Amino acid sequence: MKIKQRKILVLCVSALIFLMCVIGVAVNYFFKEPTKEEIFENGYRITSADDALDNGLIIREDFLTLNIFSRPGTPLTQINNIVIHYVGNPGTSAEDNRNYFESLASTGETYASSHYVIGIEGEIIQCIPLNEISYCSNNRNNDTISIEVCHETESGEFSDKAYQSLTMLCAWLCNAYKLDSEDLIRHYDVTGKICPKYFVDYPTEWSKFKKNVKTMMKDIK
Ligand SMILES: [Zn+2]
Repeated sequence: MKIKQRKILVLCVSALIFLMCVIGVAVNYFFKEPTKEEIFENGYRITSADDALDNGLIIREDFLTLNIFSRPGTPLTQINNIVIHYVGNPGTSAEDNRNYFESLASTGETYASSHYVIGIEGEIIQCIPLNEISYCSNNRNNDTISIEVCHETESGEFSDKAYQSLTMLCAWLCNAYKLDSEDLIRHYDVTGKICPKYFVDYPTEWSKFKKNVKTMMKDIK
């Protein structure tokens, strides 16, 4: 091989190696899974219903009006747990409960709201964006997402459809925020309040629910 040809060959190989390095860095930059810290730094990944649809969930966004009684607009800067509640008002729909939170803006009756309300038919309404706090879980409002679930009777047992939606929503949120199914907690675990009643009355059902979420997390990943 002539010297000139060899030089060209070395140049080509060097250029190829350089190009592959650049592509490698770019792929790593654009496609790697963000860490929990990066999600918070860059904002929340799952604030839109589009993401939910991609995961087979149907969520209706119907945000409350900004007001001091149910949507104060305070930034939620970390998410360490997801708190499950029951509405405690048998037979009411997700929309009824969402509208109750909205009505607090004018009645000023109390401070209350939740990020999500799941209805008996499995419908999900999001009342508050995930980068703002809700008024649902007492001293844990500042680092949790809250989910209220409707129920047909005083027992507080969730319908199959509500249970299914709750499982899927929790699995989706856990995956998105790098949480484990053990990071799901009951309102009871925060304050000792009998909420959600069925999961407090039947701790084995609560454990079973968390196992179901764990399985679902793998399914939808
Ligand atoms: Zn509660």
